[in-house]
Amino acid sequence: MDGFLESLAKHLYAKHGSDISRLTMIFPNRRAGIFFKDYLNRQVKDTLFAPEIMTISELFTENSLLHVADPLSLVFRLYKIYCEVTGSKEPFDTFHPWGEMLLNDFDDVDKYLVEAGDLFRNVSELKEIDVLFSGFDDEAIKHLSVFWQSFENKEQSFNQKEFIRVWQALFPVYKELRLSLRGEGMAYEGMVYRELVEKLHGGKDELFEGKKFVIAGFNALNRCEERLFAYLRDNRYVEFYWDYDNYYVDDKMQEAGLFMRKNLRLFPQKEFPYSIDAFKKKSKKIKIVNVPSHVGQSQVASRELQNRKSGKNEFDDTAVILCDEELLMPVLGVLPEEYNKVNVTMGFPLKSTPAYSLVSHMIELQRNVRKETGKVLFYHKNVLALLNHQMVSMLEPELRRKVAGYIISNNKIYLSVEEIGESEILASLFDSPETTLGLSGYFLNMIRKIFNHLQENSKGENSEVYREYLYRLYLTINRLKDILENDGEKIFGKTDFINKETYFNFLDSYLRGISVPFEGEPLEGLQVMGILETRTLDFKNLIILSMNDGIMPKTSSSGSFIPYNLRRGFGLPSYEEQNAMYAYYFYRVLQRAENITFVYNSSADGLFTGEKSRYLYQLQMESGYEISEVTSTYDIATVTPKSITIEKSDEVMKSLEGYIKGERTLSPSAIDKYITCPLQFYFRYSAGMEEPDEITEDVDAMTFGNIFHETMEWLYKPHLHKEVNANELNAIVKDKEKIKDAILYAFRSSYFKGIKESDELELNGRNLLIYEIVNKYVVRLLKLDIKRAPFKIAGLEQRVKTLFPLSDGKRIVSIGGIIDRLDKKDGALHVLDYKTGSADISFGIVEELFDPEKVNRNKAALQTLIYSYVLLKERDSETDVVPGIYILRNIFEDKFLPELKCKEDGNKPVNFRDKIDRFETKLLELLEEIFNPDIPFSQTTKEESCKYCAYNEICRRG
Ligand code: SF4
Repeated sequence: MDGFLESLAKHLYAKHGSDISRLTMIFPNRRAGIFFKDYLNRQVKDTLFAPEIMTISELFTENSLLHVADPLSLVFRLYKIYCEVTGSKEPFDTFHPWGEMLLNDFDDVDKYLVEAGDLFRNVSELKEIDVLFSGFDDEAIKHLSVFWQSFENKEQSFNQKEFIRVWQALFPVYKELRLSLRGEGMAYEGMVYRELVEKLHGGKDELFEGKKFVIAGFNALNRCEERLFAYLRDNRYVEFYWDYDNYYVDDKMQEAGLFMRKNLRLFPQKEFPYSIDAFKKKSKKIKIVNVPSHVGQSQVASRELQNRKSGKNEFDDTAVILCDEELLMPVLGVLPEEYNKVNVTMGFPLKSTPAYSLVSHMIELQRNVRKETGKVLFYHKNVLALLNHQMVSMLEPELRRKVAGYIISNNKIYLSVEEIGESEILASLFDSPETTLGLSGYFLNMIRKIFNHLQENSKGENSEVYREYLYRLYLTINRLKDILENDGEKIFGKTDFINKETYFNFLDSYLRGISVPFEGEPLEGLQVMGILETRTLDFKNLIILSMNDGIMPKTSSSGSFIPYNLRRGFGLPSYEEQNAMYAYYFYRVLQRAENITFVYNSSADGLFTGEKSRYLYQLQMESGYEISEVTSTYDIATVTPKSITIEKSDEVMKSLEGYIKGERTLSPSAIDKYITCPLQFYFRYSAGMEEPDEITEDVDAMTFGNIFHETMEWLYKPHLHKEVNANELNAIVKDKEKIKDAILYAFRSSYFKGIKESDELELNGRNLLIYEIVNKYVVRLLKLDIKRAPFKIAGLEQRVKTLFPLSDGKRIVSIGGIIDRLDKKDGALHVLDYKTGSADISFGIVEELFDPEKVNRNKAALQTLIYSYVLLKERDSETDVVPGIYILRNIFEDKFLPELKCKEDGNKPVNFRDKIDRFETKLLELLEEIFNPDIPFSQTTKEESCKYCAYNEICRRG
């Protein structure tokens, strides 16, 4: 059974023979013309001129003296007129989306031949309705009354008053816009349609004289199209051909036939040997597949294509139809190899491409530029984001790592281009134009550079697609630049009529609405298209994705400022018409297909309801076809990450060798890391994957800790190895300047790392606040020490280590680290740790400190006890060892004491000598495990540890 266009080609050739070249074919879109021409070529044996083929839009515009202006230029003109008429001071970027909507409304008003003066009128005096709209039918009057009665005779709300204010301004705006456009020989499309239709005088003019028209494949018609078709029907030669099926035309309840029923009545079709009951007669295999994942639908499409491979690669054999355009890339990524020729006919949203994210990173960079003493400085996060962007990193692959290192080691928040590096690309990227025109040039320059680089260097599969994105982006920004340069001058009298921020906002929202049109060689291979692109085309095999409620049909109608009831009253299309249009696309593409697979996403997630489209329910209940329904097990959304285990291969053991030869020292925090998660230990200490360092803009917890440590060290350094008493400590507390110097010294070395000695240090904002807090803690700690005095300061930031032989006696592990402070008091050595985070001053038993399953394991206690162990091992004969923690969060408590306590001893301060044997046993056990080649590094079973783990992206946990 031939499809519509093929039947039409055969029929017209049989009817007109070589005279077919004298026909003018009018189709709803260009693609229908291309396919028709190919079908016609297959009929024709001799050389023949093809008929003239045009779209309906071309028919209107080619017969008008007006030129359809670019939509961007139109919205700028509308903005100027709107501001003049209403006195609005609204910036252009917030006006723009609304302006586009208004232009669509004006377009509708003209295409549907509505009297704009009547529509944009305040009719809150209800009694005027009957008089003003006496020619309207009862249904229309009812809609108008329903709308306006809410405004009648009562106190109007703020929104209602605002609506009336704007509504009444719309007619003058509409009139003024048309006038100014016409004055320049320009128009929007609706204006052209209306002007042409108003020119038709009952066939007495010469318009279209001598032409023979064939109008084919239309469905919904606006009033201008209806008038034009009626004019041709009554005054010129015309043949109408409609693509429909009795299944939805005969049944008045089927919305898909809404327009066709009227078309057939107004513009009857002459004899056409073409099946209009294919929907029922052509046997169909229909299947519905649900898959609990959005992108998982593409996998189903791939499997279906593999199963169906027929060896044929005709353009009308198989189509994959995407009701949601976002699925384009996932589908293209999984097409079976046999489908080597693929034609994509649809738009892909620019906002989902890396080209858009590049510009949006560049916008952010420009937004945050700072100018200081003649230097342009860029915010570090924007710099890193840009250098990390896939399109920039392919130009400068090593740079991000280098710049990140520089930023972190110098704690740079803002940096100049000289600090980033020297290259042509960097100079282009890290530039800071002053004007909006300059900014357009800046974006274009960078896009061009990346495009050229891709063209010259990259052969990767993404290269072509990336270039397509960049090309579209370039055209869009270039068009905007033209408008700023030319129309800006013409419309507003100056080029810089919008400021930078408005330009950024506008550019961002404008790019978000742009679609990248993919249009390949349509006459071969597998066809991938959107549902709108299927009009007039027929395929034997169909795979239709995203058959979900809310997507097919779309629930959101395109925005309009004209309220629903006024649209109905004036005969403008609304959501009912939109639904009927989608229903027609849906049933029409099915009518002659043989194998149909519908796929929908069954997981309720974000915008997706997980419900199948109502069209599928209708098909199941009404079509009479047996429709199988299956659930695909494929689900990438819920795949649980594979568990990771690292065997201790020779290579891994080699990486640990330094520890068991006593060459590298195992720190208490490394030991603690292993207990928390062996895999985390492996990443950090065997694979050498540094935990990402972060640049700190304000003093974060870690930097705060460092500043505190350094302040205390600076204050106590003069007393090292000396006994301090309460008076001396009191003197320090009173010496505010000294404490200030200590804190500023600590700020310099821990925070303002790159600053020179000679440079004055200025603290402001949050840092000043941190200064105050450090000051408070330091004074409080000194006061606590006054209570503990006298004591001798035996060590400050002291490095210690001991050698720990494993059971074989051959392997010796070096354990150690830096102790914050060592005090000698009452004959014992006090090992003191300063802790800024939360910690507990007591623990239950020694063994629990090594137990990975223990809830709230006291990590701070373990680390202090490891230091105590090292000390006692090294100075056994000398002294007792008492571990202690200054938990800064708790030091303001009245009875705070730093000594660590053990619950099994009735919460008495710990004398480590009493615990050393049990501690040593557990430590040995642990070290034996760490260095046992038969025990792999595995992941923790306590997933809460993954939440803040630096490696959770690898494990896909947390
Ligand atoms: S994410 Fe979890 S399992 Fe993976 S290394 Fe970190 S703590 Fe261990």
